[in-house]
Amino acid sequence: MNGMRVRFAPSPTGFLHIGGARTALYNWLLARHEGGSFILRIEDTDRTRSTKEYLDAILEDLAWLGLTWDEGPNVGGPAGPYFQSERSGSYGPLIQRLLDAGAAYHCFCTPDEIEERRRLAPKDGREWRYDGRCRGLSDEERSARAAAGDPAAVRFRVPEGTTVFEDMILGRVSVENAEIDDLVMARSDGTPTYNFVVVVDDMEMDVTHVVRGSDHLSNTPKQILIAEALGATPPTFGHLPLVLDQDGRVLSKRRGAVAIGEYRRRGFIPEALVNSVALLGWAHDGVQEFFSLDELVEKFDVSRVSGKPAAFDPNKLAWMNAQWIKRLPVPERTDRVLPFLRGAGLAPEDETAEERRRLERVVDVVDDRLKTLDDIVAQAGFFLASEVVYDNIAVSKVLAKPGADETLAGLHQILTEAPDFEPDTLERQLRGFAEERGLSLGKVVKPLRVALTGGTASPGIFVTLSLIGREKTLARIERARRLTS
Ligand code: GLU
Repeated sequence: MNGMRVRFAPSPTGFLHIGGARTALYNWLLARHEGGSFILRIEDTDRTRSTKEYLDAILEDLAWLGLTWDEGPNVGGPAGPYFQSERSGSYGPLIQRLLDAGAAYHCFCTPDEIEERRRLAPKDGREWRYDGRCRGLSDEERSARAAAGDPAAVRFRVPEGTTVFEDMILGRVSVENAEIDDLVMARSDGTPTYNFVVVVDDMEMDVTHVVRGSDHLSNTPKQILIAEALGATPPTFGHLPLVLDQDGRVLSKRRGAVAIGEYRRRGFIPEALVNSVALLGWAHDGVQEFFSLDELVEKFDVSRVSGKPAAFDPNKLAWMNAQWIKRLPVPERTDRVLPFLRGAGLAPEDETAEERRRLERVVDVVDDRLKTLDDIVAQAGFFLASEVVYDNIAVSKVLAKPGADETLAGLHQILTEAPDFEPDTLERQLRGFAEERGLSLGKVVKPLRVALTGGTASPGIFVTLSLIGREKTLARIERARRLTS
């Protein structure tokens, strides 16, 4: 591993969505591409909004996507603890250090007073900033207020000048320090704020690179200035553009954004999510569309991430999911659909070798009919269920048609007598039967398909018959005939 240290720092105050997954993925790819370390830090200082449920879901989703961490929860590491709530020991002494150095000062303005001043400030279209009232308090004034028991927050004293940094994605960013608030680093109850703890954590964890959403862009100059005041080298930052929905609105939880775990439960596969998410703002050569995680590691280049907002298209993800399912080798595809089959009671918890072979054949014949893994239930349920569920429309439109029952009666006979139930044999038998009766093959197959599957769509009829087997085929034909008699 080289010295690059990259981190993903989610707050467990919600589930991981597409935007967060992209931040995690790009950080992970940057680390893996460069041979650096990937750290997972849980920013759980908001005790009221952080929950164990969200934490567990985030860890599970990251692992499911394949984004393994070198340091962090469950694996530990030399820079732990990796939960921000357990790191509070460092913050107080460092705040004191900044106070002693004059880089921070006590502020006695109460939130109500500040709100009042904000309200009365001239409306010049600019964002109101703290007016620096406590910046110049003398030692005597400060001691007197402290002695009177007035609560004090600690503010950072933003120095004069300009803060410039090279963003890995946006290029050079330059901010006049006069535009930056003397931000609160510790509230009057002593609790430190996000902008301070994040700097300390990144510094103590020797984080060298930070990729995060551009919603943090305005925090970056503040964090750089605090890091410098602490004598640390700030990390190199990269800010990702927003992810928009199809209507050009910011993708948000409120607007139906789907959590990664929800995609998993709906039968999406991680290959498709990783691939789709990787392309939200990054492209390799503008031609290649399919990337495995390994290929992404090889080809990902953070400097090629676009600074323009990316649009997330759920239909494209669905399409990609179908493509990736199709690409899975049959044994692997079988493993992936098994939980869905089991959930529907269509596969045993522990299948025999014979059952497994049959399952693989079923999975093989449904081939490209799976958009999501759970489609297997609708597409292949009739192969595995003991009873077929007949679709009313198919029954009335096909089975109740004149001649259908006669055809089924004839088929029952030839299928009883067929020498074996291999697809080739069955094809010969059915073609011969159609010819003898002067019917098109289609006319013969239509009622048979409904009888066997309950509906009008299935994989090729010969392989379908073969897989259902003689016994069940005959029983289903009998049952279908009874439906219309
Ligand atoms: N915990 C912050 C968030 O979830 C991330 C902070 C950062 O990346 O610096 O938005």
